[in-house]
Amino acid sequence: MQRITPSQPNAYTGGTLDRAAHRRSDEAWVQSALRDPSSRFVLFWRGHALIAAGDAPKAALVSRPELDAPWVFLGLQDQNPVFAADLSALDDPHILYGTSFAFTDMRSLTALLPTDDATILATARAMLHWRAQTKFCAHCGAPTVPVRGGYVLKCTAQGTEHFPRSDPAVIMLVTKGKRVLLGQSHKFPIERNMYSTLAGFVEPGESLEDSVRREVFEEVGVRVGAVSYHSSQPWPFPASLMLGYHAEALTEEIVLETDEMRDARWYTREELENHRDLGFNLPRHDSIARRLIEDWMAQTAPR
Ligand SMILES: [Zn+2]
Repeated sequence: MQRITPSQPNAYTGGTLDRAAHRRSDEAWVQSALRDPSSRFVLFWRGHALIAAGDAPKAALVSRPELDAPWVFLGLQDQNPVFAADLSALDDPHILYGTSFAFTDMRSLTALLPTDDATILATARAMLHWRAQTKFCAHCGAPTVPVRGGYVLKCTAQGTEHFPRSDPAVIMLVTKGKRVLLGQSHKFPIERNMYSTLAGFVEPGESLEDSVRREVFEEVGVRVGAVSYHSSQPWPFPASLMLGYHAEALTEEIVLETDEMRDARWYTREELENHRDLGFNLPRHDSIARRLIEDWMAQTAPR
């Protein structure tokens, strides 16, 4: 099987944020950085990031909010400490930040955000979500408190430490000869008529390759042989890590799992190139799904 390599970095990857993990356990340093006026905060409200609006949207990097909000130390950007804070407890935080900033679903802006901003916001969103979901110890139910810059939540009764987690999900472009298999999930808005790569969560006790084969067989009844890694992408909506593969089909017949999938089809390169004329959409340009499709098209094109 030909190895298809990534032609460009995926969204939310490649930023220059220095996570400065060695600083997290230095409580005095973290407290001092919290009070340092040169420290910057990215703010979230109920999953939405504070964005400086305009033709070129950017993460709003603001001074420390003057209220008691959960926070996490994210690292150093250009030597300056960067924190995330969660304002979700407020009914309406917009009043604090005027009209030049707006709390926004960052997925609507992914392709427009500078790389460093996208990396910071992805990290912030994932960490704040985990923190909000881990208020109590999973072992004994006692409240947790943040330590090590917010990267550990510690049980107040027994001291058990809870660490942030990502949920691995495989996403794969299944190919057979000159055709690729794309599907339409019930989760996609029906009016968009979008066909995309298959995807699913890795289960405990499963290798990534086995997960690719299981998911494809479950969703479309196609048997997969060789599996080849392409690239990965953090997807903090809320806590996924997308692991991208190309997968070689051994069989062609599609047996649709109709609870999950509305449709699935084999497409030729020409059909993908002419998808607009043919009346269907491909996934967004900033998605790893689109990278898997376009890199296959470019790197297997007849010369
Ligand atoms: Zn506990």
